Parts: sequence; C-alpha cells; structure tokens
Amino acid sequence: MTDATTLTIDLDAIAENYRTLAAIAAPAACGAVVKADAYGLGVGPVAKTLRTEGCGSFFVATPSEGRFLRGALGEQDTEIFILNGPTPGANADAEFREERLIPALNSLAQLSQWKESGGGPAAIALDTGMARLGLSEREVRALASDSGLLEGIDVSLVFSHLACAEESDNPMNADQRARFDRLRADLPAARASLANSGGVFLGTEFAYDLVRPGAALFGVSEATGATEKLRQVVRLQGKILQVRDVDTDMTVGYGAKGFARRGARLATVDVGYADGYLRSLSERGHAYFGETHVPLSGRVSMDLTVFDVSDVPPPGPTAGDTIDLISDTHGVDALATEAGTIGYEILTSLGSRYRREYVGGPDNIERTAR
Ligand SMILES: *Cc1c(COP(=O)(O)O)cnc(C)c1O
Repeated sequence: MTDATTLTIDLDAIAENYRTLAAIAAPAACGAVVKADAYGLGVGPVAKTLRTEGCGSFFVATPSEGRFLRGALGEQDTEIFILNGPTPGANADAEFREERLIPALNSLAQLSQWKESGGGPAAIALDTGMARLGLSEREVRALASDSGLLEGIDVSLVFSHLACAEESDNPMNADQRARFDRLRADLPAARASLANSGGVFLGTEFAYDLVRPGAALFGVSEATGATEKLRQVVRLQGKILQVRDVDTDMTVGYGAKGFARRGARLATVDVGYADGYLRSLSERGHAYFGETHVPLSGRVSMDLTVFDVSDVPPPGPTAGDTIDLISDTHGVDALATEAGTIGYEILTSLGSRYRREYVGGPDNIERTAR
C-alpha cells in the first residue's frame, strides 16, 4: 500500500489515438514524439504500446532520452531520432552509435561534427519559420553548392516544424510548406516530414512521408486543433485528507484569497503545485466529486488544495475519498483552460510524486511506477 496519489494512464486510449492519427495521415507513416518522458506519462510503457501499434519511428529531444528509449524498447531496428542533435563538444560517436540513435542535424556545425565522428544516418532539420533549430536558407545554399559538406552523411529524413499548426486558417502554414519544398529541393532526395499533431489535422498535403505527433497521442485536443475526437488518456485522483464544516464565515488558504460562508463544506486534497497542479488554477479551477462539479477555494498551495464540496448531495465526501482532478468529464484541455495554459504544460508538469498506474496496453509492461 502506498500513500501516493495515483495518476492513471490509459494505454489503450493512447493506442486508439495513434490509430486515429495514422488513419488521417495515411499513406504517410505515423511516427511518435515521446520526448520529456512521453510528455510526462512514462516513455517505457508509452513507447511499447505505440510499437505494438506498428509505430516504427520515434522522436525524443536528447541523446540521453534516446538511450533510455532504446533500452525500454529492447530492440535495435526501430528508428530513434534525436531532435536536438549532437551535443556541442560532446563525443557524437559515443553518444549516438552504441544505441543506433539518429541525430537531427540542425546547423552546419552539427553537420560537420557528425561527419567528423564518422557520418552515417542522420536527419536534416530545416528552419522554415521558427528560428529555433534547423538550417537556414543560406546554410542550405551552402550545402547545395559544396557537395563535400554532405559526404559520408546518409540523409534518412529531411524535416521542419510548424509554428501555427493548430490554427488551420493561419497563412503561416502554407508559407512554411512552400519554404520547406523550396529548401528540400536543394538537398539529396530523402523522406520528408513536416507535421506535428496540429499538422496532421491540416490535411494530407502536410503529411509528406512521415508525421510526428506528440500531444494528440496523449489526448490534447484544443491546443493541437484536433478535428477528430481523441480519447482522454490521463486520470488524476487526489485524496481527501480532511473535510471541514464551516461554522462561521472565514477565509481559505494563503493570502486569505478564498472565502467560505458559514454552513459550507470544504475538502482538503493532497495535491498541490509541487505535483504539477498549477498554482494558476487558484480560485479558478474545478474538480469533480462523483458527478458533482466542485470549485477550488482559495489558492493552490505546495502540497494541498481546498475544494468547496457544499453542493455534493448527502452523505457527501469523507476523509479518504478521492476527488477527480483530471478525468473524462474534466480533461486535460478543460484544466489547461482554467489554468490559462495549454494541455502540453499540464501533462509535462504532472510531478514525480504520483504513483503511475497503467491500464490497457500490451502484456509485457510494468503496471505501476513511481
Ligand atoms: C515536440 C515536437 C513535435 C511534436 O509536437 P506536438 O505538437 O506535441 O505534436 C514534433 N516535431 C518537433 C520537431 C518537436 O519538437
């Protein structure tokens, strides 16, 4: 038995979201972005589930994420791309080759680093409008005019990243697509990839050979501009530590920002901002007790949050009961809206304090993890 709050992750829901996205993107292949520990949900069980669904191309941010993923998959033939590319100054040989990780080459410097450490399979990233990572137009021209620069490098993918993919009517999308086509025409022929989750929903002209969704796999709909219904993947249940019947009008929590009238009933729950239950939910968030919508009272504190459960029909909650902080009825998108952020940040903030419990998915996974 454990005193930890439970974060339940529905692997069957992830599998179904993968099938939904793969069907939209077909005939393009559907990869998966599982950086940041699969958006906080646990890369081992998540990647194994996606592999079982036929996903053959994974993307993570760093070489250490890639090594961990390779170990979790326990096989060598799945593609693992490292979006940040070789770490400047590090030994790319040791970082990448042992685990057959494929770097994204984001600059001429990374390109020559990869070449000097022996070359081989790599992805080339093109900047088409984010000014974050990727080769600029000028760098692509340099490559096109000096074929020696790419010698020994086996370009297995050319990709770029959309800035406004969740806004289907934003002209930036078509601009980036046109720039992508122009730049890639100057490079060796290779598979092409442009679409993140939002890009998948923009239409097949954005799918190219391979799509790279992350957030939509994990049930983020609003911030990805999803046009198909996605399944909710995460359920977060807090435990009620104490129930208080308010006998005189009083304030609630830090800053005395909340207010409870005489006769109100408050429940104190064992989740706070240290658990990724964002402080910006203060005085704005909601949860559910059974079918009843219960408002957050006062500020979220580090380890505790107070909900006004006055509207719950008798007998009402008691200490030890659970309250649904994230659920099918009040999902990641709804919580994100209340917190003034996007579902991506809700998922990746969910702290390491929870006991994670996996339901569904393939047989060969650990069902619980801290
Ligand atoms: C994170 C990331 C993705 C996945 O984005 P989502 O919006 O979560 O689908 C795809 N490509 C790149 C380069 C990324 O950094």
